[in-house]
Amino acid sequence: MPTDPKDILAAIKAYEDELIAIRRDIHAHPETGFEEVRTAALVAEKLRSWGVETHEGIAKTGVVGTLKGNRPGQRAVALRADMDALFIEEKTGLPYASTVPGKMHACGHDGHTAMLLGAARYLAENRDFAGTVHFIFQPAEEGLGGARVMIEEGLFDRFPADAVYGMHNNPGRAVGEFGIRPGPMMAASDSWTVTFGGTGGHGGSAPHLATDPTMVMAQFILAAQAIVGRNVPPVEPAVISVGHVSGGAIGSPNIIPSEVVVAGTARSYSPKVRDTLERRLREVAEGLAATSGCTAAMHYQRRYPPLVNHAEQTAIAAGVAASIVGADKVDTAMPMRTGAEDFSFMLEKKPGAFIFIGNGVKPDGSSHYVHTPLYDFNDEILALGATYWVTLVGQELGVEG
Ligand SMILES: [Zn+2]
Ligand SMILES: [Zn+2]
Repeated sequence: MPTDPKDILAAIKAYEDELIAIRRDIHAHPETGFEEVRTAALVAEKLRSWGVETHEGIAKTGVVGTLKGNRPGQRAVALRADMDALFIEEKTGLPYASTVPGKMHACGHDGHTAMLLGAARYLAENRDFAGTVHFIFQPAEEGLGGARVMIEEGLFDRFPADAVYGMHNNPGRAVGEFGIRPGPMMAASDSWTVTFGGTGGHGGSAPHLATDPTMVMAQFILAAQAIVGRNVPPVEPAVISVGHVSGGAIGSPNIIPSEVVVAGTARSYSPKVRDTLERRLREVAEGLAATSGCTAAMHYQRRYPPLVNHAEQTAIAAGVAASIVGADKVDTAMPMRTGAEDFSFMLEKKPGAFIFIGNGVKPDGSSHYVHTPLYDFNDEILALGATYWVTLVGQELGVEG
């Protein structure tokens, strides 16, 4: 296997047309979470055609390809791409635009899938490495936690890995550039709902006979902001926002309702801060309710954990990217992002790192962001992304382990 990334890139460029065709085929046929039947079949068919041992049906539509190197080695590395599309109506007008009304590959997972397939083909033809590579094609990244479901269905028991890596395209970052940071990189995204209960009553004639949950809710909404201001260390970012309030009937302003509901979101970047937000929201709700003779039922839903890159693998990933594009094109201290990403579940189980690859910037400096109807994955970076994966395998499995 060539060790110079330029040779790898040149070899992958030779079959770039096939990767572009795969990417546009997937783009034209977007499938949303856990319904990636056609996409998974396409992935499995390609992997098998290149001689990669292929396992289907993990987390419904997930696919894992396993490839052993020709040299002896016990180490294994897992590379992950996501396959799902979004419920967005595409407005690009491209010749290969979505053929499915209301669904679109607006996050570039079509490109992620094609890049990892490009690496699988190269490595299947160049097995001069020591150990095992697992190519993880994951369903349902967008909100449904396909990564979590794959892990629950034994992903890392069936396909043990010493390290796991992920990659996402980044509109607004130039082609040929990468971004990464050690430690927390993307937010934990949780939602919560509190139902305050009281007796309610006649608000005009006998308010003193009621326990009034509306007053508790009003106090709670203000006190919740003090959790960020007084319970979270000032150097740690955190967000609590209210997105829903309801209670009573609009035609009955003289009735104190017996139940009101408030709901919102909580974002954080460390497991400790996340624990603090959940614990304090509950304590504040229950404490305020108790002082007014009311009750508080808190439902806190942990959605995606914070994405926390491991230091050693982040250095490996950044070094690999730098060996391809030059160290000056790799931002190793990119700012934390407020979005969430379910690769975080894999990083809770295995050491690893998630990297951003530039999807390009338009001449006027703008670019269509992910999750918008005009977004498109940039085919120019398919070969580069595949080269990153192959070079990473060379780095991880280049010597006998
Ligand atoms: Zn997305
Ligand atoms: Zn995405």
